Parts: sequence; structure tokens; C-alpha cells
Amino acid sequence: LEIARTVSDLRTHVSKWRLAGEVIGLVPTMGALHAGHLSLIKIARTRCDRVVATIFVNPRQFLPHEDYESYPRTEKDDIDKLIGEGADLLFSPINSEMYQPDAATSVTVSNLTNCLCGTTRPGFFDGVATVVTKLLLQTLPNVAVFGEKDYQQLLVIKRLTTDLDIPVEIIGGPTIRESDGLAVSSRNIYLKSQARRVAPNLFRILTTAAEAIASGDDLSHALLKAKYELQASGFTNIDYLDARNSKTLVQLSDGDTTGRIFASVWLDTVRLIDNVLIEKV
Ligand code: AMP
Repeated sequence: LEIARTVSDLRTHVSKWRLAGEVIGLVPTMGALHAGHLSLIKIARTRCDRVVATIFVNPRQFLPHEDYESYPRTEKDDIDKLIGEGADLLFSPINSEMYQPDAATSVTVSNLTNCLCGTTRPGFFDGVATVVTKLLLQTLPNVAVFGEKDYQQLLVIKRLTTDLDIPVEIIGGPTIRESDGLAVSSRNIYLKSQARRVAPNLFRILTTAAEAIASGDDLSHALLKAKYELQASGFTNIDYLDARNSKTLVQLSDGDTTGRIFASVWLDTVRLIDNVLIEKV
């Protein structure tokens, strides 16, 4: 595993591979690597000759009261995991390499960001869209892989690469879960033991609601029931619980039986997000 700390180093490595005609895959992360991240590296491995992983805790996608300072940073372990997965290059820049003090440009994606996490975390998607655009232009990969765990983010990234004519194929990887259903996340380490016991109910309740909607049950009733169950099972707050179209994120109407159900909920100070496919079986 080679490690690049500067954009210039990154480009030196990648341009060599590109000249040799190799297919290059990019997997952007914020580190504290877990099975979810590693599954994306595996997908990139099967599609590409070279895999570049990035670790950058992007300050622009944290709101002032969020956990930027305390976000887990575990680079030594991350490097071991990347070696284990056979990644070729880690790009791990410091903040000043990514953002010059007088930086004045950001990327905004409209429509798709007017709901869900776009509403509860204002500015978050501008931060994500800007850093992902930069990483794509710095690396110029053929393929970039993102997780369906952050489904709205995946759609935003597909939209921006289409709109900005960035020549890359964006691939979504399925959500990797613990054996009890909890979606793996770098922030799960914040969950204390009681909260950790409650957390898997999110996936369970979303799955039940998705099955009910898919089988034609009344949409608002299914969502109300799921909301009640979330509260009853111990989630302390619900940011949103919505059934939406999988491509446009427009809210489903009564009678719709395909789409995705999305939720953001809290267990005390820890926010969990998850989403589940609604499909007729
Ligand atoms: P993060 O480090 O949280 O910014 O995530 C980096 C990438 O890993 C994003 O594309 C996420 O969607 C993806 N990811 C995070 N958790 C999971 C998971 N449990 N399963 C699959 N992909 C994930």
C-alpha cells in the first residue's frame, strides 16, 4: 500500500497507472474503517486494476455543533485493513492540502437535497458534494464506489457527476449490517450498551414497514405505526421517517408499492440513519 499525503503525490501514482491503461477505482471514506468500507473496496477490486482509498474527515460536512473534533481517527488500524483488502494507494491529506485559506467555491446539488438529511443537516450535502467533486478531479478514476447506507448521498453524487460531466461511473454497494441488523457505522462506537441493544430495532421496524407498503397496506398507516414502534422501542427522537421514490426522492403516495423507506433517529446524543428497499415480492 502506497500512501499519498498531497494531491501531487496522488497524481504521480495514478497517472502512471492510467498511462499503462489500468482501470482505476476510488473509494472515498472518512476513516475508522469497518466492514462497510471494506465491502466497497472489495467491489472496486473486482471492477478495477487499481484501487485508491481516501481517508479525509471533511470539516465542511460537519455542522458547528456536530462531532468533527471527536470523530474517530484510527489511521494505523485503517492502513492494516487496507493492506488486508489489497488496496493499492491511500490518499490521506491534511486539511490545508484540501482547502486553501481563501477557498471560495462549493458545489450545490438542488432538488435531491431538499429533504431528509438535507433538511436536518443544512449545508451537509454542499460539504459532501464539494469534497467528492475534488476527490474525483484529483484522482480521475474510472469508477467510484459509495455505500447505499447513505442512499441520499449516493444519489447526490450520481447527480453531480452527470451534471458536471465528470467522466466516472458511480457504483452503489449494499449496506453491510451487524448480525442483529444494525447498519455498520463508524459512529456506532458512540452507542452505550443499552442504546446498542435498542439500535437494531431501527432496521427491524423499517423492514416491517417496507413489507407492509410493498404488499399494498395504507401508506400513512404503515408510517404512523413504524413511528409509534420506534418511539416505543426507545429511540429518543425521530428526525424523519419517510417513504420516497428511489431515484427522485419524491414522497410516495397511497397506492405506491415500490421505493425506499428512510429514517434518521436518535439514541440520546447518537444519530442513526438507515434505509430499506420497498419492493413487491
Ligand atoms: P464514511 O466514512 O462514513 O463517510 O463512509 C464512506 C463510505 O462508506 C460511504 O460511501 C458510505 O456510504 C459507505 N458506508 C458507510 N457505512 C456503510 C455500510 N454499513 N455498508 C456499506 N457502505 C457503507
